[in-house]
Amino acid sequence: MKKYVDGFDTSGGSAYHCAPMLTSQLPSRVEPYKLAARRERLEGLVALDKLPRLAEEAGDQTGDCHVVLEFGVDAQGRREIRGHLQATLALACRRCLVPLSQDVSSEFLLGMISDEALAAELPASHEPVLVENEQLDLLTVVEDELILSLPQVVYHDEADCHVSADQLVSKTDGEAQEAPATNPFAVLNVLKGKDALKGKK
Ligand SMILES: [Zn+2]
Repeated sequence: MKKYVDGFDTSGGSAYHCAPMLTSQLPSRVEPYKLAARRERLEGLVALDKLPRLAEEAGDQTGDCHVVLEFGVDAQGRREIRGHLQATLALACRRCLVPLSQDVSSEFLLGMISDEALAAELPASHEPVLVENEQLDLLTVVEDELILSLPQVVYHDEADCHVSADQLVSKTDGEAQEAPATNPFAVLNVLKGKDALKGKK
């Protein structure tokens, strides 16, 4: 599949251009059993705008996820992938819904299985990853891990937030039991209240 064998063409421009080290894209499809047998280490970038399920969970993203994957076989003969990923995401602030920049990183250990029924045989330390026809889609793996590593909630620092903590506390104090915490309209109401108060002062 590799279009360029020689990595020293610096003209750039092609998506298949084989760039040096940290600017190289992670291959999207690999043969994981072979990589495990050879104990290969893959390091590369995944463009965040190529991950539609991540966009669904966390909004549109730009930039890259930095990924390191170490393929191997453990003492029990299990083929596994030890991985690390790091990305800077734009996540909506829970208070004001305006995105803020948030570093997300994850360490993970995947156990390769050829059939979903075999997932139960993996130890709890391993997340199952399904290998079909000896192929693995690394974009799917990275996207799954990124979604799993999303923080539950993010907030701006109080000084930077478009809704002050005071407003939020006074608004939610009395209705804490009934108000669903994820209701975005609660925030809109706070914003409306803020505008309404401006005239009073
Ligand atoms: Zn905010």
